[in-house]
Amino acid sequence: MGVVKTVDGKLGTQLQNQGFLLAKLDDIVNEIRANSIWPLTFGLACCAIEMMAVAASRYDVARFGAEVFRASPRQADLMIVAGRVAQKMAPVLRQIYDQMPEPKYVIAMGACASTGNGIFNNYAIVQGVDELVPVDVYVPGCPPRPESLIYGILQLQKKIRKSGKILEEK
Ligand code: SF4
Repeated sequence: MGVVKTVDGKLGTQLQNQGFLLAKLDDIVNEIRANSIWPLTFGLACCAIEMMAVAASRYDVARFGAEVFRASPRQADLMIVAGRVAQKMAPVLRQIYDQMPEPKYVIAMGACASTGNGIFNNYAIVQGVDELVPVDVYVPGCPPRPESLIYGILQLQKKIRKSGKILEEK
């Protein structure tokens, strides 16, 4: 657990020599969260094929603890918006997002989810999923390669590690 820092170097070393680990609760919880992301099984268009490849043996996103794709939003904390969002799909996407428990995260995968893509600049397509839900990481490309999505997941992990306190001060 490399990111967990001791509060005091000297005291920390003494305790570690005795088999104890001194760390902030925030660091521990954020580290666990970052390494146990559960994505929602949710694909909209061609980008979803690349997302599926990430979970298969060649790219093996299990290396980063994010392989447990869940079929229920109640059990997921990451929505990967993989593909263009039709206006008809917009309220459904928002409802699924609302059903996910906090803390939750969103990756906009590909040009369509991020911006609507130039080729779908019309009234039927949402011009960027950030019009519907807050986006944490944008992954560029049409389609992005699986490596790009993995890079996006790594960026999300960094963000989670830096996220706020578990117990907010009143
Ligand atoms: S970004 Fe490209 S590959 Fe992805 S959904 Fe849009 S058209 Fe398909």
